[in-house]
Amino acid sequence: MTLPVLISGAGLGGVCLAQALKKNNIPFKIFERYGQSNVSAQGYRLRITTHGVEALEKALTPEMFTLFEKTCADAPKLGVRVKPDGSTVPFGGPPGGPGGPGGRAFTVDRSVFRDTLLTGLEGNVFFEKNLEHYTLHEDRVTVSFSDGTTEDGALLVGADGVRSCVRRQHIPNFKGLDTGMRIIFGKTPLTPEFLAKLPEEYRDGMSLVTNEDDNSQPVLMFESIQFPHAEEVSTLNMPGPYMYWVLVVHHSKIPSSDQDSWHLSSSEAANLANQLTSSWDPHIRTIFEMSDINQTSIRSILSAGPEIDPWRPSSRVTLLGDAAHVMPPTGAMGANTALRDAADLAQRIVSVGGVQNVDEAMVGSYEMDLRDFAKTAIELSWRGGMKSFGLIPVEECEPISM
Ligand SMILES: Cc1cc2nc3c(=O)[nH]c(=O)nc-3n(C[C@H](O)[C@H](O)[C@H](O)COP(=O)(O)OP(=O)(O)OC[C@H]3O[C@@H](n4cnc5c(N)ncnc54)[C@H](O)[C@@H]3O)c2cc1C
Repeated sequence: MTLPVLISGAGLGGVCLAQALKKNNIPFKIFERYGQSNVSAQGYRLRITTHGVEALEKALTPEMFTLFEKTCADAPKLGVRVKPDGSTVPFGGPPGGPGGPGGRAFTVDRSVFRDTLLTGLEGNVFFEKNLEHYTLHEDRVTVSFSDGTTEDGALLVGADGVRSCVRRQHIPNFKGLDTGMRIIFGKTPLTPEFLAKLPEEYRDGMSLVTNEDDNSQPVLMFESIQFPHAEEVSTLNMPGPYMYWVLVVHHSKIPSSDQDSWHLSSSEAANLANQLTSSWDPHIRTIFEMSDINQTSIRSILSAGPEIDPWRPSSRVTLLGDAAHVMPPTGAMGANTALRDAADLAQRIVSVGGVQNVDEAMVGSYEMDLRDFAKTAIELSWRGGMKSFGLIPVEECEPISM
């Protein structure tokens, strides 16, 4: 019997890999430390652009790709650019709109997107399975979970995000960067009361509130998200329309200690957003005042450096997505890169004739391409972050163990 691919983490990269393996009849099991519905701190919208779309086309069956399209929100558009006092500034924006030059761009709700990619994986996905460590054998890898159980597989894929447990064991010296930026993000339901208070020009497209004269000040991005085909989707819970917002701020501007701010509850994060913008134009502040507090979160922006040091490949363990190359969200490339990794890894497993034939050379070549692609994506994310969100240069960021 062929041992399965074991995937640690049912995030976006992990479930995309699972779909691609399923499509190609490669056995797999996917393990997620949380329960299926525990995605509260991930409730933001994502932009899926060229590389992500291409990866989905490879990984999904045509029926699944159609489901994906139906769950997408309206196509991205540019909104306005204003100062915190509400006065307008010219908005050049990226060529070709927020999706980038000429490429295809879809907007998705992160939770809906993940649920879409979980469709059909029942029986192979196991929730509340927190991987603690793995053991390598000549002919297999054994993973151990915190509930005391174990599983054997032919290949372990660490798709377990920025604080990857698999990476910590596989590449113990991996260093990341703390960019110093913190993001508070949330959703404000597009209720009639909220819309009545919101100026017309703020309702459509991706808008920015930025202080051009002082880029150390908080920057706000907001965008209305509506799902034009929601009624055609009967198998998933589609959210009502909402405004997605992200407030980007350097930790030196946050009144509580940096360590404390990493652990703020939803209501504390919502209060902080209100506090940081207390002098802003009241129309903009309505976005925070009427937001759904339970959907508000704070996160620190960590990143891998653009030059990720190579590690020795193993025929039994590899990584994908944020576990290998977390990057600032300012290029909208993290999920797209994770999807690209997933489709590429699946394609390589298929091309060697199945997981039983995976060897160091195949994994090494996959990981070399992964680092190359990630380098470009990290650099692009940095450029976007420095241009519009006050991100400091890579050289000034504090190295951290992740
Ligand atoms: C505010 C914000 C906006 C963003 N916008 C965009 C965007 O527009 N476009 C874009 O491309 N990217 C965007 N990103 C980045 C994107 O969200 C990530 O790059 C992407 O989610 C990475 O996917 P992943 O599968 O590698 O990791 P994740 O999605 O983080 O999944 C990792 C999974 O592993 C699980 N896990 C962790 N440890 C264990 C363990 N020990 N055992 C079992 N399971 C475990 C976690 O619970 C999680 O479910 C954004 C990020 C943020 C914060």
